[in-house]
Amino acid sequence: MDTRLGGVLQTVGNCRWAGVDVMPYKEDGGTHFRTISRQLLFPGTEAMPMEWRYFEVEADGYSTLERHGHVHVVMVLAGAGRVLVGDAVTEIGVHDVVHIPPMTWHQFRADRGDRLGFLCLVAVDRDRPQRPTDEDLAGLRANPAVAEFVRV
Ligand code: MN
Repeated sequence: MDTRLGGVLQTVGNCRWAGVDVMPYKEDGGTHFRTISRQLLFPGTEAMPMEWRYFEVEADGYSTLERHGHVHVVMVLAGAGRVLVGDAVTEIGVHDVVHIPPMTWHQFRADRGDRLGFLCLVAVDRDRPQRPTDEDLAGLRANPAVAEFVRV
């Protein structure tokens, strides 16, 4: 179904939805992330210019370490892992909610022997993510908990 038109997008189980393609996390095929898929559950409308995506990081995978002006609100739907938000590394599991404010470094890791699946709400109209410079990384790694966590 076209979620722009209203109605029910039915799950086919296991965090998959009928007619929704399981796509690569990012189009650029970089090496700054590992084993993540993306599904677009709601593409935004004029009345609600937000995208609702479901990302799934396979066990041992991670998202890009990045920051940007736009905001994410995330809810974990499957598995477990840890997340960096700013200078805090926190364990996350099913139904935990994560808010990533503007220009805040963030990264998700499925480092608890399980996948990490989460919904991510984001504005349709948004800026491009920035990746850390060497100087940014040095600053982040000054915190031992962050240094242990980040993958680039
Ligand atoms: Mn992001």
